[in-house]
Amino acid sequence: MSETKANFDFRPLMFALILGGIGALLNSFTYPFLPEVDLVFGNAAFVMVAMRLLPKYTLLTMFIAVTPLYFAWGHPFGYLTFGLEAYVLAQLRSRGWYVFFADLAYWLCLGMPLTIAIIWWREADFSLYYLFIGFKQGFNGLLYTSFAAVLIFMLDRRSYLSWQQQPTLKRTVKAQLTYAFVLITCLSLIIVSLTISRSLIVNSQDYVSKSLQDNANKSATLMQAHLNEHQTLITMMASWLSATPQEQWQELLNTSQALHSGFITMLIAGADGNISQASPERLLAVVNQNGKFSVSHRDYFQKPMAGQDLYTSDVFQGQGFGMDMIIAISAPVLPMNGTPQQPVAVVEGSLDLNILSQMSMAKLGEQHTRLVLVDQNNKVIFASDELALKPLDDFVFQDTSSSAAGQRLMLASAGDKSFAYHSIELENQWRIYALLDYQYILKQIENEYLLIFIILFGSLLMTTALANQISRRLTRPLNFINKQIGYHDHQIKHEFKPLYEETGVEIEQLYDEIKRSRTALFDYQEQLEDKVAERTQALNKANQRLQALALVDGLTQVFNRRYLTEQFIVVRKACQRSEATMAVVMLDLDYFKKLNDSHGHQAGDDCLVATAKLMKQAFDRDTDIVARYGGEEFVIVAAEIDLDNLQQKLEQLRQTIAEQVFVNPHLQPFQVTVSMGAVFGRADSFSELDSWLKGADQCLYQAKGAGRNQVVLESWIKKDELKATNS
Ligand code: GH3
Ligand code: MG
Ligand code: MG
Repeated sequence: MSETKANFDFRPLMFALILGGIGALLNSFTYPFLPEVDLVFGNAAFVMVAMRLLPKYTLLTMFIAVTPLYFAWGHPFGYLTFGLEAYVLAQLRSRGWYVFFADLAYWLCLGMPLTIAIIWWREADFSLYYLFIGFKQGFNGLLYTSFAAVLIFMLDRRSYLSWQQQPTLKRTVKAQLTYAFVLITCLSLIIVSLTISRSLIVNSQDYVSKSLQDNANKSATLMQAHLNEHQTLITMMASWLSATPQEQWQELLNTSQALHSGFITMLIAGADGNISQASPERLLAVVNQNGKFSVSHRDYFQKPMAGQDLYTSDVFQGQGFGMDMIIAISAPVLPMNGTPQQPVAVVEGSLDLNILSQMSMAKLGEQHTRLVLVDQNNKVIFASDELALKPLDDFVFQDTSSSAAGQRLMLASAGDKSFAYHSIELENQWRIYALLDYQYILKQIENEYLLIFIILFGSLLMTTALANQISRRLTRPLNFINKQIGYHDHQIKHEFKPLYEETGVEIEQLYDEIKRSRTALFDYQEQLEDKVAERTQALNKANQRLQALALVDGLTQVFNRRYLTEQFIVVRKACQRSEATMAVVMLDLDYFKKLNDSHGHQAGDDCLVATAKLMKQAFDRDTDIVARYGGEEFVIVAAEIDLDNLQQKLEQLRQTIAEQVFVNPHLQPFQVTVSMGAVFGRADSFSELDSWLKGADQCLYQAKGAGRNQVVLESWIKKDELKATNS
């Protein structure tokens, strides 16, 4: 790492640690949502860190925040799913994702499948319920993520987060609007659906609890009444029998049993324990076949004989007269007037418990409710068929209510199943249980939540589409305006097209203002351009004039001495390259002082101008230079010229000037002559102009000395040499 101790920035670390602490605090109080299902909120902490800092800080915050969950849940898988979530969020965020969409993508593609896989791996009986837990986890993830996103959004304006490490993203207005819509919709939708569904679940659990209580109460009342009724009957029978002659006992027994079909059989045993009467009567035939049938060893005989009181037996399977589950109710028959009263017989009725169970089941309101009736020894008397409990089985039943936090139902496990239950003890210490399969309850909750998930997802899509549409309405005219301005920039003058009909008034005003200022700017720019063009032209002219002034003699309009010096170099070089000959001529007006004196300075000037003009006409090639050397002295440089031609031209010039007639201000005619000295040679004869001028000046001097008005020409090339070059 390039971070050294000296410049290490502690603020991100502090931010990550503080948020981790807050997250851990929040996660210490999970929100019991359903049994085995907690909602967590503390994870919002690492989502916030992911939005600001590098993945390593996000993982640090995640680790701190998730630790309480590790202790609460007893397994470390939270570190895995939430750790991955934190990492993916931070990574996608740095690639410019919105954190909510990143989280949605994570849970759909990785989080939910992973959670379901972990549960599938850990739980032996993997049911749809766990699929539901997987869904819930994603739901929960989106909840705390949107929470964190909204929180960061609210805090965004504060400067304390200006040191964020994640890039600040430039997004389109459309993207921002869509995101804001989706975020707000989802957050409110999740909160509303959570609140409503939670209260629905609480209500339905209360309802289930109440219905179980009702069922248990109803069954208990029914059973108690049934028992009481038959106990009363036996008590009454004993009284009736003692007041009835023995011959009529059989008839009395028949009548009683017919009236109270709850008794599967009834019998009377004498003091010796032998059965004397039975109902239905056919039982007597069984008794008589086997000789005497004694019940003297049975509790239902011994107890009333000894205690002289009503007796109700435990549940047992009938022995002599069928194999039904029964309880025996018996009472001693006391003699009318014997003292001490020794029972003369025992009357017994076998209560058919099948009838009792059928009656109880018929009264159940909830078709998924199961009933179990156990005796004081916890042996099953009867149980709903679905429970697969046989009579006299031990009823293994364990209350588990305390282990499920937030549970409003009493929970228990029996066999390998979980139940919500309610139980009531009867007067005889029997106990009735009303049970409802917990899976069935969960299934209903689960269905409800699956529906919520589907609605949420649907709303998400709808919100996105709607938000997209609304944002488009806003950004479309903006983009349109942008484009129009672009045209206006690039084209000569663009007609602004009108905005769409449905555009907001504010945007229309903005457009008008832009149009106005744009047009004004454009016009101004045009004016400015015209002015600049005008000025540039004038400037060019002035420049040209200035340059000409610097190179041209003001009076005679031939080149000045400076131009001569500069241009000579160029002309001579060109001439040298083509190995040509050239000439330098010096021309001086004769007796000019006298001319000035006699005709005036103005006439002198006119004379100079006219002479110069004639010189220019005589030497008019591009390469020729005619320059005023000073006063009434001129220099002609003639390039690529041969000697004869030069001689001819100079003589012609001398003549033309001499023939020219001038008029002075007093209209007196006068004439002027010139003397010329010229040197002719190869361009490489001398490189310096001065050398050439010196030669020409010497010739001029000779011309003056020889009487003026003549040309003296000196060639630096010998005659025979000239001939050779010419041929
Ligand atoms: P020479 O035949 O020996 O050349 O005699 P000159 O009088 O021409 O020679 P000199 O050098 O003695 O005199 C030159 C005269 O030219 C002097 C001056 O008055 C006249 N001069 C020089 N420049 C100008 C000019 O621009 N305009 C006019 N009108 N006269 C000029
Ligand atoms: Mg002179
Ligand atoms: Mg002169």
